[in-house]
Amino acid sequence: MQDILDQIVATVGASADRGKVADYIPQLACIDANQFAITVALADGRIFSAGDSQQLFSIQSISKAFTLTIALGKLGDAVWSRVGREPSGDPFNSIVQLEHEHGKPRNPFINAGAIAIADAILMGHQPKETLAEILQFVRFIAADDSISIDEKVARSEQSRGDRNASLAHFMASFGRLDNPVDCVLGTYFHHCSIAMNTQQLAKAGLFLVDNGRNPVSGTRVVSTQRARRINSLMLMCGHYDGSGEFAFRVGLPGKSGVGGGILAIAPGKASIAVWSPGLDDVGNSKLGTAALEKLVQHTGWSIFG
Ligand code: GLN
Repeated sequence: MQDILDQIVATVGASADRGKVADYIPQLACIDANQFAITVALADGRIFSAGDSQQLFSIQSISKAFTLTIALGKLGDAVWSRVGREPSGDPFNSIVQLEHEHGKPRNPFINAGAIAIADAILMGHQPKETLAEILQFVRFIAADDSISIDEKVARSEQSRGDRNASLAHFMASFGRLDNPVDCVLGTYFHHCSIAMNTQQLAKAGLFLVDNGRNPVSGTRVVSTQRARRINSLMLMCGHYDGSGEFAFRVGLPGKSGVGGGILAIAPGKASIAVWSPGLDDVGNSKLGTAALEKLVQHTGWSIFG
């Protein structure tokens, strides 16, 4: 495994065409696109890394897999009255479907859906309390208490948050938000701004590898059925309008973020985190995807056999 990862860093990680860093969040616009990292956390507890695997980055939308897990824990199947579970085929920040579908987002991973999930888990609490709860959950699944929120990134996104504010107000106009829009957006921007490295992120994904239970510690995080469902949503919706392409090329459930990270799950085998800040045209890590494609070619881990 170490040889495979070293080879991926030396080939994919050295590509000249690295995509474009997200620049609509000013704080992300200045990230060095030459960084690259990959970590594989195996179900047997061994962890392999290559590249800049200690470097913290903004997990952005990868956090939506964690907030969905928390929401399902709190609300159970009532989550599905707030968000759907179909791929959108539209960009992550699109507003067009929302009008046709009466303010109910297609799935929990597009921005509108994740904002609805942030609203669901707020349950009348202050954003601070809810953020503490989200952070506690992420620290617990990653077994790492040092994980925190990058305030600068959160404030930076908030300062340019017109599109997400539009989505939230539009949903509120359909009576779909229980909490004040400002509180919901503050919670959303901050959970997107959790900073992690690929080692922490790969460890955080382990509960999705072994039917909802961390195979290393033996701790159960969610039920088997819930883990399967989260994985299926990641496969179908985790890369927005690039989800089909990701399934075609990689064949694993995965969740991407505009910070350039991707968390991918090989059920029964491993949790994999990759990071390369440059994005493709639809906002998914360009080299991150290529790295996962290579890894799956070497390991045969595609869920499609
Ligand atoms: N915080 C980002 C946003 O709302 C998350 C988007 C993403 O990672 N795809 O635009």
